[in-house]
Amino acid sequence: MKTLSILGSTGSIGTNALDVIDRHRSLFAVVGLAAHRNIALLKEQIERFHPTVVAVADEERAVSLEDMLGGPERPAVLFGSEGYREIASLESVDMVLSAMSGAAGLLPTIAALESGKDVALANKETLVMAGDKVLALAESKGARVLPVDSEHNAIFQCLEGHSRGNVSKLILTASGGPFLYRDAGDLVSVTPKDALKHPNWEMGSKITIDSATMMNKGLEIIEAMRLFSIGADRIEVVVHPESIVHSVVAYCDGSHLAQLGIPDMRIPIAYALAYPERITLSLQELDLFAVGRLTFLPPDLDKFPCLRIARSAAERGGTAPAVLNAANEIAVEAFLGGRIGFMDIAKIVEETLCLHEIRKSPAIDQVIEADAWARAKAAELASSPLAGAASPK
Ligand code: MG
Repeated sequence: MKTLSILGSTGSIGTNALDVIDRHRSLFAVVGLAAHRNIALLKEQIERFHPTVVAVADEERAVSLEDMLGGPERPAVLFGSEGYREIASLESVDMVLSAMSGAAGLLPTIAALESGKDVALANKETLVMAGDKVLALAESKGARVLPVDSEHNAIFQCLEGHSRGNVSKLILTASGGPFLYRDAGDLVSVTPKDALKHPNWEMGSKITIDSATMMNKGLEIIEAMRLFSIGADRIEVVVHPESIVHSVVAYCDGSHLAQLGIPDMRIPIAYALAYPERITLSLQELDLFAVGRLTFLPPDLDKFPCLRIARSAAERGGTAPAVLNAANEIAVEAFLGGRIGFMDIAKIVEETLCLHEIRKSPAIDQVIEADAWARAKAAELASSPLAGAASPK
């Protein structure tokens, strides 16, 4: 029996993970759950999975949740970053699923690794912001980091049993998002509603916008560099609209190994949770005849400048990826709030990076400092009349 804590249990990855766990009650037990604001859903999860400790964003929600829970078996309710850290490092937990959205996932993930827990990592920001430090910490504690992000999980699977020294390159596939076939000129006027319509994957709103700008793939290049210790120049991005091939590893002999499956996050989640075993999921089968054709296209860097900007931040290293990520989170929030246009997201991120003085080999607190600086700077840029003028809405 593997005991688990789930950080971000009410989000898209969290709910999918609980669905996987529900199918295998004899393999997994849920000990800790951490959510942000959705206490109604957290209450349902508590009643179904009986964790012993839970945490929410703040004291007010913790009190409301306690009022909603009855009975002698109710869990201890914690709150805030201390609460999240505690859920991540509970003595009785074997593995932590780190699936909070955004930079907020960094410190609880570090707490999990510091206490030697294996981490199934869905929060890519952790690796983008401080991948080197986080992976060194995992190694020093003998803890495993298992990627949940579908592309990285695919690569992880394709590397199993092979020597890393024989890898020539990694190919990350991208769906291309909802605007793949739209003209670049149209994109200045698209709305959050347009951008939230992802063709293949059901995900949270932040990552769906990142997928529409292709910043998601840019962040994933950095994530792959960290996870697999490989340079950005050996990571290729290929647009693959069917989202059936989840990524590819190319070896020195010309062999290319790919992992295929229907686009369903329960597959990579189950692989990470049950690793090194595979468990039955009984999902809809991959029907290659129904898929018929798999297409692969080069990404259009003029239409999706975020991909270019992310690659350049990856190459510059130091605090640049953390600044890229923080500025992007603020810009996406401003776009979702209707305060800036779609193409302003890239402009704000690029401008913030331009203004940033990169610190090489930063410590975690310097990364957090750079993150805070970038948030303030990006917010300033998003509310400046320049951004407004650049976004005819
Ligand atoms: Mg992904």
